[in-house]
Amino acid sequence: MNFADSEILASILKDKYNTTDNYAEADLILVNTCSIRDHAEQRVFNRLKEFTALKKRRLGMKVGLVGCMAERLKEELLQSGLDIDLVVGPDAYRNLPHLLEEVESGQKGIDVLLSTDETYQDIEPVRLGSNHVSAFISIMRGCQNFCAYCVVPYTRGKERSRDARTIVNEAGNLFRQGYKEVTLLGQNVNSYHAGGGNFAALMARVASVDPSLRVRFSTSHPKDLSDELIETIASYPNICKAVHLPVQSGSSAMLAKMKRKYDRKWYLDRIAAIRARIPDCGISTDIIAGFCGETEEDHRQTLSLMREVGYDAAFMFKYSERPGTFASKNYPDDIPEEVKLRRLNEIIQLQQELSLESNRKDVGKNFEILVEGVSKKNDAQYFGRNSQNKVVVFDNPCLSDGKRQVAVGDYVTAKVESCTPATLLGRLADKA
Ligand code: SAH
Ligand code: SF4
Repeated sequence: MNFADSEILASILKDKYNTTDNYAEADLILVNTCSIRDHAEQRVFNRLKEFTALKKRRLGMKVGLVGCMAERLKEELLQSGLDIDLVVGPDAYRNLPHLLEEVESGQKGIDVLLSTDETYQDIEPVRLGSNHVSAFISIMRGCQNFCAYCVVPYTRGKERSRDARTIVNEAGNLFRQGYKEVTLLGQNVNSYHAGGGNFAALMARVASVDPSLRVRFSTSHPKDLSDELIETIASYPNICKAVHLPVQSGSSAMLAKMKRKYDRKWYLDRIAAIRARIPDCGISTDIIAGFCGETEEDHRQTLSLMREVGYDAAFMFKYSERPGTFASKNYPDDIPEEVKLRRLNEIIQLQQELSLESNRKDVGKNFEILVEGVSKKNDAQYFGRNSQNKVVVFDNPCLSDGKRQVAVGDYVTAKVESCTPATLLGRLADKA
């Protein structure tokens, strides 16, 4: 989400600034921040120290903090002793050129007003991703689910959906520029709603841009993952067969306390509905270890749910209390750090086993993959992803004319020959 927002920021500033890969030569550094866990914020403070130290050596350089931390901490940041020029919340990016003028005239630039209707839908993002194959399209902003642990509704404001026409146009433009994959982004895409159309209808429209444009989405909230959406995913070959469905906990008692608005049974029923209609669907999740009051039995239920679903992948976190949330005001953060860590490690360990098991089932199969880049470890190897969102690495030999057999952006068929928990290792079959 922040990556997509940075592309909007780059677009808003494009008349005045180009982007650079080398921050040491920058005239302006904007740090786009996340408040979701304390750890994310601490990393930003460390980066800021680095940037403000550089500022002392580079006259006229400006440093701004944008995004969720700007929204959460506001003036506090300007009083923190760090030499920051700008503090700009996620709904105030259009005001940046004006704020920069204020900074030029010696003031600080601050705008953390949240909006109920800003979607930046008319702004064509400057694409910062390097591969020109895959791009993000933000389809909505904000969130009002107010899960008890989560800071997002406070830092990103009310949920609002972007007009479907502008989304379909953006996907069409990307396709004409050579992009092969778009990922539709929102905190809870299932509640997308604009002009009478829901998310399933939007997906169908984006998938109809071209059969060779892959469509992905993130994130679905389990409480309203509809059968209609499952049907739409199943019926368009170019909608990727991968659903990220964050469960957070396998214990219904914890889910109620987290205010997730579903229980274990509901969640497992949604998984069964996906599997019944799309048997080969990749399924991934997010899990929080050590939420307030979590017992060993609650934790075991998370482990048992993970086994029952057999996730292909997961993002796993220790609970981090966020000031201002329902949990921080109403429940003590009472699971000792070492217990949180032990539970998290058990969850990670189990997921390693599940990922390996899932990958082993793919050995011997052929997959269509979209080639995304050159492997970091070996430049004779390229990688891409299959529809299920698994990374496949394969040898890409040089031909007699010096070119590689396949190029970034090609669709190819690869046969999986072996695997690790994180990657499938394949052999190029032929061009699809
Ligand atoms: N909107 C998405 C999640 C966005 S935040 C959804 O509801 O599924 C991404 C993930 O961060 C969450 O799924 C959750 O697992 C984790 N997370 C959010 N708040 C957290 C907190 N206070 N401590 C630890 N993890 C948290
Ligand atoms: Fe946070 Fe819940 Fe909204 Fe996701 S749905 S962003 S976890 S409040």
